Amino acid sequence: MVEDVVKTLKVRIKKEVLTTRKKERLRRITGRDTRIIEKYVRIIHHNRRKICTKTKKGKIRVHRGKLDELTLTTSKVKEEERRTTVPHDLKKMFPYCSHNEFQECRDIAVQLYEQGYRPNNTRPPIKRARRQLINAKRFVLVHLPKEKNNTLTRWWVGIRDSLDTWRRNTPYHQKLWLPLEMSTFHQKELKKGRIKSLELRYKRSTREWWVYFQLKVLPSSFYPTEEKSSSSLPPAVLGIDLGINIPAAGVLLTPKKKLTNKEIKFWYTKQWNRVNHRYKLKLSRLQRKAALNDQSGKKHQIYRFLCLLRRRYKNVKRAYIHQFINDVVQMIETYAQVYNLFVVVGYPKNVRKDKGKGNSARKFRRKLHQWNFFLVLTLLRRALILRGFEPHRILTVEERGTSSHCTRCGRKVVRPVRGLVHCPSCDYTFHSDLTGAMNIARKFLGALFRPRGNTITNYLTGYRYSSTHFTVCLGLSHWL
Ligand SMILES: [Zn+2]
Repeated sequence: MVEDVVKTLKVRIKKEVLTTRKKERLRRITGRDTRIIEKYVRIIHHNRRKICTKTKKGKIRVHRGKLDELTLTTSKVKEEERRTTVPHDLKKMFPYCSHNEFQECRDIAVQLYEQGYRPNNTRPPIKRARRQLINAKRFVLVHLPKEKNNTLTRWWVGIRDSLDTWRRNTPYHQKLWLPLEMSTFHQKELKKGRIKSLELRYKRSTREWWVYFQLKVLPSSFYPTEEKSSSSLPPAVLGIDLGINIPAAGVLLTPKKKLTNKEIKFWYTKQWNRVNHRYKLKLSRLQRKAALNDQSGKKHQIYRFLCLLRRRYKNVKRAYIHQFINDVVQMIETYAQVYNLFVVVGYPKNVRKDKGKGNSARKFRRKLHQWNFFLVLTLLRRALILRGFEPHRILTVEERGTSSHCTRCGRKVVRPVRGLVHCPSCDYTFHSDLTGAMNIARKFLGALFRPRGNTITNYLTGYRYSSTHFTVCLGLSHWL
């Protein structure tokens, strides 16, 4: 599994360009939060018998709901279920603080208490003023380009102001815009991950405010390791099209611009179709028998036999799928010895969507809905990774439109006979499954030559890989 790596990025707020109002606001936000947290810690310590429990390992856990019952009248329950009085009414002590604010402070206080912080009469309150803003919903990071901005600052962070501003008798929250001192280093770091949360901190020694960004950094598999990229084999992309009648068809795109029999492969077993057909016939016959209103007392027997037959059919089916996967993997392994190989499989998303009752032939519909492409895809991926394939070498792309466009000119094709496609504009006829496979491989190459944000995404798993993984494939541009 991919682990999450969280990194912190510190950015200074440009204090020298802050207005007095903003400075005051910042001071109040950070200062007040410190006092609330301190208050919370004292309340927890005072009521520790009621709200704290000890785990088996001897750690202290604070019950947050019980703490809320002691401190907050406001809550998200209905009007009539509200508490009217609480022993320690924080809303009275800090009237301009909202419910969400209190809960954030509460979480920090609970964290501190569980880590061992205890209030002390001789010790001054928590030194470091800190404040946490969770989630991207509550702040925005804005980058203004040079032309649109007449101030020197180009990076701004807009924080939802936690102090209630009253307008027409209802509290609302303004955005507090803060200028940031963002260097090129910071910008590079920001690109490496996604911002999860943000924290405002005041440093007493320098009397300055800092923004701490919590970055979720992309996993290490996103970037290629150096030793693997120095392979001397020629690049190749194998496109695989999963189908119903023919389980899979593959086309290998190599640096040569020519397709021979070596580069085309069908995975197809006649035997399986026969076995499948026989089982289905037997099953349907038995089912019909069972549905009849038969009073002879043999019904029990029929059901038992039906159950047995279904189980056997399932096992046989599974054995055939594994056989099929084995065949595909073997072929891929032989290709991988000669080429620097990438495998791209089409994922037929929404293929069942419009094929409800009355939209196409009944037999075809039944086949379509029994087609287990997801199982085949995951099994194939797993088998390849178990044999030492790197995860970025087996990718999936969405299949939409791949088998209905010409491989030469990209225009729409017609199907004169089943299994063949014909392009009216360039007069080219080709096998329909091979068209699909080839277009799948070309779709991947197209995504590589026009990368969005320099990443290639595996459609099935959602994992993203840096396009630097695939730089060798740039030698296959003649297939586009
Ligand atoms: Zn054409």
